[in-house]
Amino acid sequence: MGSREQAISNFLSILRLHTIKTQIIAFALLATLIPSLNTGWISYVHNRRLLDEKINQELRNLTSHAAWELDLWLKERLYELRVFSTSYVVSENLERFSAPGGQRRVNTPKQRRLGDYLKSVRERFVDYEELVALEPGGQVVASSAERAGRLSLPEDWQVTARTGKPILGKPLWDEAGKQWTLAIAAPVLAGHEEFLGVLAVRLNFRQVGKMLQGYARGDAGDLFLITEEGTVLSSSRFSPSELFEIRLPSRIASQLFSHETVLEHYRNDRGVTVVGTLKGTSQIGWGVVAELDHDKAYAQIFRLRNLTIALIVGLLVVVGFAAYVLGLTIVRPLNRLITAASQVASGNLDVNVPVLGRSELGYMTEVFNDMVTRLRQGREGLGAMNRTLRERNRELHELSITDSLTGLYNRKHLMEVLTKEVARAERYQRPLAVLMIDVDHFKLYNDTCGHLAGDEVLRNIAAIFRGCLRESDCVGRYGGEEFLIILPETVADDARRIADRIRSRLAEENFPADSKPVNITISGGIAIFPGNGRSPESLLRSADAALYQAKNHGRNQVVSAASEAEAA
Ligand code: GH3
Ligand code: MG
Ligand code: MG
Repeated sequence: MGSREQAISNFLSILRLHTIKTQIIAFALLATLIPSLNTGWISYVHNRRLLDEKINQELRNLTSHAAWELDLWLKERLYELRVFSTSYVVSENLERFSAPGGQRRVNTPKQRRLGDYLKSVRERFVDYEELVALEPGGQVVASSAERAGRLSLPEDWQVTARTGKPILGKPLWDEAGKQWTLAIAAPVLAGHEEFLGVLAVRLNFRQVGKMLQGYARGDAGDLFLITEEGTVLSSSRFSPSELFEIRLPSRIASQLFSHETVLEHYRNDRGVTVVGTLKGTSQIGWGVVAELDHDKAYAQIFRLRNLTIALIVGLLVVVGFAAYVLGLTIVRPLNRLITAASQVASGNLDVNVPVLGRSELGYMTEVFNDMVTRLRQGREGLGAMNRTLRERNRELHELSITDSLTGLYNRKHLMEVLTKEVARAERYQRPLAVLMIDVDHFKLYNDTCGHLAGDEVLRNIAAIFRGCLRESDCVGRYGGEEFLIILPETVADDARRIADRIRSRLAEENFPADSKPVNITISGGIAIFPGNGRSPESLLRSADAALYQAKNHGRNQVVSAASEAEAA
């Protein structure tokens, strides 16, 4: 395996992606997630920007219209005041009041006339809370109210008034009226030069509030008139009496003032996250703020986001399931192949994996089945060959221990059996008899009837031996016309009985010789373990000696060997 392949394999193991199935699923999910997240994100950013622009545009429209109207409102109030300040009733009274040696008393009939005038003016204008005429020293000369309220004119109002310019005061909370008020004043001049005092008015924001409500209709948003410090003077949403409690945090106010007409996101004093923008007024340092609830404003985008997330999740489920099924179609046949291969490895060739589909795996399965079939055929061929070889070996072994003429054991095998039987008899202290047999005058028979007839006689003798012996006995051709019979578990008497039985059985048999039947006889010598010898050689020697005696005593008889002691 290449080092790169190894590195990838290690990396996948770290991610616990061991199996092909998990790798396929992970890849499919990743391949779905990356493009869909990418597309979703781009679309979200794009839509968000569009919505931001739309909201900003709408709020900007609201604030600029409202700010423009507010400027107009203030301009009109200043204009009216200037008109009233030039009224004869006002200037005449103030002139008298300020003239050196003039009447400085209040509540004179003339002053009362001025008060009535101011009252009548106030009643005609809803924006006016109170109209007040002040002499240059600041003393109230006449007021539209029974008791003059507080006026918050700037400290240098006399200086401004002498220049003939209008005076704009600071907003002041009117505790009695439960509302914010603003004092404005216009200078009163005699002719065009002499400064007689000012005509001041305390304005309420009732009309302004109505104007703001008019703009804030429907879902357009909330409108607020605020000062640079964040004091809310009027609002489309709250009644004037509620406004004392409401304040825009000064940090947010200065942020809005420093980024005029830009859309800002902030948390207002009610703890609600909003988007808002501000438009400043031109005459006085105030601003109109339009606010929208953030969640409501972006509800559309949130819906889009949730829909996108739901779509991606749905897509992941579908793709994940498809990948799982695909994984199964690969992994199932692979697992079948692995199981079959391990069966083959453990020696079971009776396997056949079903071929499903025409994929690479299907082809591989076909090749695998083919391979197993060949292996099976090879093994069967090998088995047959082994069986034949075993058969041949057995035959060879039979041949190697068999005498070809008689089919009895040959001398080599007789010696091996005798060695084993002597060892066994020795170990278990069991009886064992050995019988050596020789055909009498066989040379003569051969000479008379020929070798082929002699061979036939030898075969017949072998058949008689087989017929007279037990399975456990062992008979073989020791040489020429000599035979050796090994009789395990046989004592001397039994051995003699067997020998006599063979001998008499053979004596009964007639063999053809020179056109007249002859009797073939045998002589035998018996040796018994351990009395006639404790080794194969000594036993054979004893049997041979006994046989020699049988020959000497006239043949056709069996002689038992003398014990070793006797022999000695
Ligand atoms: P005795 O009674 O003393 O044993 O006399 P004998 O003639 O049997 O003894 P001898 O040892 O002189 O002769 C054995 C004969 O056995 C000689 C040989 O012709 C014959 N013979 C040995 N092997 C075979 C054989 O395989 N086939 C045939 N037909 N004859 C064999
Ligand atoms: Mg012989
Ligand atoms: Mg003989």
